[in-house]
This record gives sequence, C-alpha cells and structure tokens, in this order.
Amino acid sequence: MDVKRIAVLPGDGIGPEVVKVAVAVLKAVAERCRLHLEFHEALVGGAAYDATGHPLPPETLALCQSSDAVLFGAVGGPKYDNLEPPEIRPERGGLLPLRKKLNLFANLRPARLYPALASASSLKPELVAKGLDILVVRELLGGIYFGQPKGRSDDGRRAVDTSAYEVSEIERIAHVAFQAAKRRGKRVCSVDKANVLETSRLWREVVARVAESYPDVELTDMLVDNCAMQLVRNPAQFDVVLTENMFGDILSDEAAMLTGSLGMLASASLSSSGPGLYEPVHGSAPDITGQNKANPLAAILSAALLLRYSLNHEDAAAMIERAVDVVLQAGYRTADIATAGQSAIGTCAMGQSVIEKLGAV
Ligand code: NAD
Repeated sequence: MDVKRIAVLPGDGIGPEVVKVAVAVLKAVAERCRLHLEFHEALVGGAAYDATGHPLPPETLALCQSSDAVLFGAVGGPKYDNLEPPEIRPERGGLLPLRKKLNLFANLRPARLYPALASASSLKPELVAKGLDILVVRELLGGIYFGQPKGRSDDGRRAVDTSAYEVSEIERIAHVAFQAAKRRGKRVCSVDKANVLETSRLWREVVARVAESYPDVELTDMLVDNCAMQLVRNPAQFDVVLTENMFGDILSDEAAMLTGSLGMLASASLSSSGPGLYEPVHGSAPDITGQNKANPLAAILSAALLLRYSLNHEDAAAMIERAVDVVLQAGYRTADIATAGQSAIGTCAMGQSVIEKLGAV
C-alpha cells in the first residue's frame, strides 16, 4: 500500500482553525479517491516557542524532512512580534528557516478569481466577468535577496545589493513553470528586465532553451514594468507567469489582489526532490482568532495544491477545486467574502459545505 505522510503544522492564530478544516477535507477526498494519507502534527511558530523555547524545534524539522508534503497554517502574533533576538520570532525563526532547510526554490501562487466573487476584485467588472486564473511561479532562493556582496559602507552613506543567478537556478525554476503550464493553459510568460539587467538577459536565454523541451507550451517574454501594467489592464491574457525572486514577490501580490480576498489565496513552495510546503497566503489574523470567522478556503485550496504537486493526484486536487467553485456558486460565504445582503457562515460550516460538495460535479 502506497501511504503518503503529511506533516501538519497548524502554527498560531487562525492557523489551527483553518488547517483542521483543510485536513478534514483531505481525509474526505482521500476516502473518495482511495488515497492512503497519514497525518502527523507538529508545533511551529509561537506555539512551538511557548512549548519548547524555539519556533522551529528539531523534531518539527525532522518530521517535515521525512514527510511527502507539509501542510502549514500561519505563524506569528502580537505576543511574539518583539521577541529578542529576532531569530526566535515565529516567521524569522520558524517559517523562513523551514523554507530554506527544505530547499524550497519554487513558489507557486495561483491567483484565481471565481466568477461568483467577481465583485470582490479591485478591477472593473468587465475585466473579470469571466473570472481569472493566473499562476505566478516565482524563484525563491536566488536573485537580489541573497546575492553577495550586500551591505552598508562603514560611513553608512552607501548601500549595495547584488542580483546574481546561475544557469542551473534558472533552469530548475523554468522546468517547474513549463510543467505547471502543461497541466493548465499551456502558456508561459517569462518576466524579466532584459533591456537593462544582465541577470535578466541570462534568464531570457536559459528560459528559451528550456522551452525547447516543451514544444506544446507557448513561451512569451515580457518586461516586468509592462507585466505590472498588463496585470491590471488585461489580466485574462496570462496563464503561467514565470519570474525571478524580487519581480515575483511584487507581481504575485499584485496578481493576488486582483482576486479580492486574502482568505482565498493558496500557495505551494517546491524543492527538486524533497517535500513541498503548502500554506495559505494569509497570516495568523489575531483579530479574528478563536471566533470561527476565518475563511478556510485558502487552506483548503492549499491542500488541493498539495495533492497536485506533491502527491501527483490531479483528480483529487481538481475535485476540491470544483467543490469550492460549487460552494461559492451556491452563495456560501464567510464574512470576509460576503457582500451586502449576504449572510455569512463560520469556518467549520464552510469546511463542511466543501466536504458535502466533493464529487458534486
Ligand atoms: P493577516 O493575513 O494575518 O491579516 C490581515 C487581515 O486579513 C486581518 O484583518 C485578518 O482578519 C484578515 N484575514 C486574514 N486571513 C483571513 C482569513 N482566512 N479569513 C478571513 N479574514 C482573514 O496579516 P497581518 O494582520 O499583517 O499579520 C498577523 C500576523 O500574522 C503577524 O504576526 C504576521 O507576522 C503574521 N503573518 C504570518 C504569515 C505566515 O505565517 N506565512 C504571513 C503573513 C503574516
């Protein structure tokens, strides 16, 4: 029997509330699709700091490293924001080192606007009437955030950051984008600043070479300034957007906000061979913690990505995504996505509705 191990790291704030619902959905899908999933829970973030004095205890890391995938909630909160030294704060000492230790070089952020939620978008209705479905694939471990030299001059009057990319770093992220595009709209738009930056010129060359292995996927190149504009002018033109670390940081937030709500946004971070990490984009939302108000759909959609990218189970992933679609079309809303006149349901009821609609279409 092929059993897949999933490390479950609920974290802080609404993390445990939404992860509990996402695990319930995964269990329901596993039963329908005859998947054998094992769930093992561990502490991370503030919860781990309270219990052990460290936001990423060694046993949590070991569990993640020995699992097929990691389902992560959120970490942080006012109680921990000013802990000293900063290395013991939940994000800096918990999430960031976990990403690094797992060598998660690819960050995938789907920006999907469900037609039923078109009014939540910041764009004009006619631009998003048919919904949106963009996947931003961002390189996560290279570029200007990590290049050396980096720092301030002794007199403090000059600062330097270095953007650097190796061919191998570009190749591996490009393969992720092309493989993702094969499962979707079969188009990759590679975003760079090749008119100015040497790293971008290399990026463009390498991506073009990788594209030759994917003849069924169409590749276009776009300058990052144009892409920022096109995302608000005509976002429906994009399928997969492939880009480097800093451009991806900015563009993925821009694309995400086209869809309206933080409570709907899922993400996947992948390595070459080890476990991927799946988490909602939102934080621990201390303002609504413990009130059964959190929207669990971002966590549920992250679970769908886990099935797709780490367990290679497209049918099960699509089953969850369709159920979310059906639930939204049927008018179910948590408070964050309800518009005037719509009554809101709680976290648990939303999870239950998704479970009930699995396999509905
Ligand atoms: P946040 O995402 O937690 O919340 C921003 C706003 O969105 C809040 O009003 C919140 O109630 C709302 N919101 C977020 N998720 C929601 C959901 N699922 N359903 C309904 N409403 C939702 O961001 P913040 O307030 O800037 O940060 C709070 C804490 O979370 C901080 O300690 C921050 O460091 C941490 N944080 C963690 C992560 C992570 O773990 N990856 C990411 C971002 C922020």
